[in-house]
Amino acid sequence: MSEAASPSKASSTPKSAPQKAMEKLGLLRDIDLALHLPLRYEDETRVTPIAEAFEGDNVQCEGEVSECRVDLRGRRVLLVRIEDDSGQQLLLRFIHFYPSHQKTLAVGNRVRVRGEVRHGFFGREMVHPQFKAVQADTPLAAALTPVYPSSASLPQAYLRKAVAAGLQRADLRELLPPGVVPAKLPTLREALNFLHHPTPQTPLATLEDHSHPAWQRLKFEELLAQQLSQMQAQRERALLHAPALRAKPGGLVEQLLAALPFGLTGAQQRVSEEIAQDLALPQPMHRLLQGDVGSGKTVVAALAAAVAIDAGWQCALMAPTEILAEQHFKKLLGWLEPLGLKVAWLTGSVKGKARQKMLDAAADGSAQLVIGTHAVIEDKVKFAKLGLAIIDEQHRFGVAQRLALRKKLASMDLEPHLLMMSATPIPRTLAMTYFADLAVSTIDELPPGRSPIVTKVFADAKRWNVIEKIQEEVARGAQVYWVCPLIEESEAMDLSNATETHAELSAALEGFSVGLLHGRMAPAEKAAVMAQFAGGEMKVLVATTVIEVGVDVPNASLMVIEHAERFGLSQLHQLRGRVGRGAKASVCVLLYTGPLSQTGKDRLRAMAETNDGFEIARRDLDIRGPGEFMGSRQSGAELLRFADLQEDSLLLQTARRLAPVLLDQQPEVAAKQVMRWLGGKAEFLKA
Ligand code: ADP
Ligand code: MG
Repeated sequence: MSEAASPSKASSTPKSAPQKAMEKLGLLRDIDLALHLPLRYEDETRVTPIAEAFEGDNVQCEGEVSECRVDLRGRRVLLVRIEDDSGQQLLLRFIHFYPSHQKTLAVGNRVRVRGEVRHGFFGREMVHPQFKAVQADTPLAAALTPVYPSSASLPQAYLRKAVAAGLQRADLRELLPPGVVPAKLPTLREALNFLHHPTPQTPLATLEDHSHPAWQRLKFEELLAQQLSQMQAQRERALLHAPALRAKPGGLVEQLLAALPFGLTGAQQRVSEEIAQDLALPQPMHRLLQGDVGSGKTVVAALAAAVAIDAGWQCALMAPTEILAEQHFKKLLGWLEPLGLKVAWLTGSVKGKARQKMLDAAADGSAQLVIGTHAVIEDKVKFAKLGLAIIDEQHRFGVAQRLALRKKLASMDLEPHLLMMSATPIPRTLAMTYFADLAVSTIDELPPGRSPIVTKVFADAKRWNVIEKIQEEVARGAQVYWVCPLIEESEAMDLSNATETHAELSAALEGFSVGLLHGRMAPAEKAAVMAQFAGGEMKVLVATTVIEVGVDVPNASLMVIEHAERFGLSQLHQLRGRVGRGAKASVCVLLYTGPLSQTGKDRLRAMAETNDGFEIARRDLDIRGPGEFMGSRQSGAELLRFADLQEDSLLLQTARRLAPVLLDQQPEVAAKQVMRWLGGKAEFLKA
């Protein structure tokens, strides 16, 4: 058969389950396999005499089978007894077993078994040990046996072979010039060979806590690749072009400021200026506007939009939910329509002729501002002159969506400016590491006249006291949110929970209107309920987490969150931010159902102790660690697999110092380093 034919044949053979499982784990290239490091190791390099195997030890023993029988009393159990030269016996118990077990473990066979030693009724025993038949002269393993992160359909033995082969084949030449790598660290090849197959004498502790020089080398490599890709993205962005947008004197911006019912806070003024300066440059802005819930990001977005429109360009504003998009639409319409601007509204529920009208208005440029949900980035949506794209609650969007928005102007060799907004601030260490390429503006001041929210934590047993408190508050004219958790597995259960609570509160609050809002309602129904609550006729709103982001009803001053232990910290903080928006002192009650995990306790305590979104984010990072904190969806970046931002801050500093030097002096080395570590994912970092 010709050589050319074989690859195509290979690619048409169906993939085996383990192959698919490997792909799922991202183990595609040899280098990916080489960098797939063991979780832990098993020691098959020595045999422990049974007499010296003590309870709790994880050891390998070897001996001759003296008994092998199936015990039929009660549950079927395979009982095997082995004996070694130390004269001691070890009992092996198997609750699940096959005929092949009995064959390998037949009386007279010599076997090596490995597992945890327990003390049973008949002396030393192991339950479901690993075992294999051996000869008296079968050699022991020369190195510790790696145990890799895997999945159910990927047996360790298969993975071990694949990794060993990948490690052999992978190109692990030293890329970094001498002097770049911190002294006393092994080469990459040495480090990887060692970590996959450590010598028997290696103290396991240095492998487990990653302090071993081989680990240090890997972490350094990873941090360097990560810094390089960030800096590379930053430099590439500087080469892109965007329309330079400037507001006209006496133009829209000034008119909008004059028309607002309030003056800007100092922080709002400052960030608006930072944004205006970026917009005036011919390179695309890539800026994150962060500010605690209620800090007033929307008006800053409106001012940025006004700059773009004043300069003769269009602006798009995208929000993650229909409710939030609609709220922005109403607010911005109220501010901008009186100034003579045309604002279009585009979500999944706008259909037919109305939709076509919006699409036309975006495409011919007559709609200066387009507000909507994900619908804004659909292929069908074209803009005549998109100058600025704003993404609210940016962490709810994926990288691909951000990229799609940026491409909406690609035909002109230009990219729009990008403003992302978030109420979940990024802690400094993360910003330095993952977002070197992102400019950040921070609103660190709340509009005047807000009183802080008091947060109280109660066990669900106090539910009735809380309901009495609601009765009091509602009688005094207050409005109340009651939030029920989202139960991931079952939307139906989620709903029944909310429905029950709604019935309970309706009964307790006779004569007052109690509403229900949940994810299964049609957009029009949701909007109608929201409108009643915002208008004040509805006093209590029972809602699932659909209200999570951005809803703005200043008269609401009490929030109850049921099963607060099921929410994440930043989610709780977001929810709490729905109250405390008016002049009234507000209260947030967190009801929990015990027993609480340590993490659960930490979260609720953090909520009770602070109202500061930055402090909350810091604690969230402490509780969850950076990977979880950001979620891979948010960053799109390969999160650090090996290095730890806090623990490895010295290596991080070295990498930050070296990255620009390497980029300047040996760009081809830098590119190879990034490719080796991030592969195709590096593109993603640029979004
Ligand atoms: P967030 O930052 O959470 O998106 P919003 O933009 O929704 O906050 O603003 C919260 C509330 O504060 C809104 O009702 C908004 O109109 C009001 N607001 C914003 N800026 C000011 C200000 N400078 N003075 C008074 N109220 C303001
Ligand atoms: Mg908002």
